[in-house]
Amino acid sequence: MNVQVLNCGSSSVKFQLIATDLELIARDADRRLAKGTIERIGGEAIINLQVAGREPHRSASPLRDINAAVDYITRWAASPEAGIEGIKSISDIKAVGHRVVHGGERFKESVLITDEVVRAVEDCIDLAPLHNPANLTGISAVRKLFGEGLPQVAVFDTAFHQTLPDHAFLYALPYQFYRRYRLRRYGFHGISHRYVAYRYRNLRQITREATNIITLHLGNGCSATAIRAGNSIDTSMGLTPLEGLAMGTRSGDLDPAIVEFIAAKEGLSAREIETLMNKQSGLLGISGLTSDMRELLAEAHEENDRRAMLAIEIFCYRARKYIGAYLAAMNGADAVVFTGGIGENSPEVRARICEGLQWIGIELDAELNRQHSGGREGLISKEGSRPAVYVIPTDEELLIARDTVRCVLKDRQH
Ligand code: ADP
Repeated sequence: MNVQVLNCGSSSVKFQLIATDLELIARDADRRLAKGTIERIGGEAIINLQVAGREPHRSASPLRDINAAVDYITRWAASPEAGIEGIKSISDIKAVGHRVVHGGERFKESVLITDEVVRAVEDCIDLAPLHNPANLTGISAVRKLFGEGLPQVAVFDTAFHQTLPDHAFLYALPYQFYRRYRLRRYGFHGISHRYVAYRYRNLRQITREATNIITLHLGNGCSATAIRAGNSIDTSMGLTPLEGLAMGTRSGDLDPAIVEFIAAKEGLSAREIETLMNKQSGLLGISGLTSDMRELLAEAHEENDRRAMLAIEIFCYRARKYIGAYLAAMNGADAVVFTGGIGENSPEVRARICEGLQWIGIELDAELNRQHSGGREGLISKEGSRPAVYVIPTDEELLIARDTVRCVLKDRQH
């Protein structure tokens, strides 16, 4: 079944076309047919499209909104110029899977999209005012383009964390805020943490129930998750993705009294301060240079830039503290798993995070650590290190495509 995977943001759309079905899933033989991104939607959009095994194709075109972008991608995918294997017209695309950021408490797993599901995603807009509207626009764009008959599936970034126990998801605030507004920790990057946990148990050939690990997704956004018996039991992002680790441009954990302090000193509104904590903090805020870890590492090595070094140190220190906290929260773990752009590609950051964790039994293998970047999956700790340490490249699109197939087939059986 050819599945189109869409991740619609406020000004960007990412997509992949993946051929998958139950038999291909069982053999881990799903086929990536094409992928692409459209950025700066609303103006002269930057378009990157690539058919698997061919050169990427870059162009620019004025695209007004997400509707226009979804239209563009789909028409391209079905065109003879693209020449994608098995796709001659849009009717060869059999289902669309959407990454939907916030499913609130309602969605604990992926679902086939119905009018009722759309209304429930709308109900979560309060919780994700920037993301959910874009995801909904993507869903309605597909409906317009393909008609009502094409199955669409929502895969939620929050769903994997719906197994958090109440003592982990509640904030120590007056309980009525939870009752009134469902104010609580939801956690994000759930698709990535779930995928990585799945790959880990495949690699180790163990059951879901035997999966006890800490996953660290370190990309532009960063989060840690404690996975006990296959379930997420705690995660570092909260009501919004702002909480937890220090990230590219987000502050992560801080004293909430700081909001009032900055408001008084700088004359900023609460909303402006939230934006500052989301967009101008983290690696960017501390270094004053960039949110890009690769550039910071280069600055630190080549220029000895003090604030670049400090930003990297804070980033690693905070991740290390979460490993310690989660080991306590989950009564020990068998492995720590790194993923995301930084986690997958930076031996230096991984080594610095694991530094000083020998006392709990973590011993990285310097050579294995060095060898694992650019998408290579595997063990990077010494034999006998417990917890062991792994690098597992994430693949959110693949998980979305597979969930889409499963939901569509389940629906057909009814
Ligand atoms: P997103 O969270 O937006 O999906 P990614 O997972 O692609 O982002 O992660 C982007 C981050 O990964 C950037 O900070 C980038 O510098 C970092 N990164 C990518 N390659 C390397 C590398 N070789 N060394 C260090 N950091 C890297």
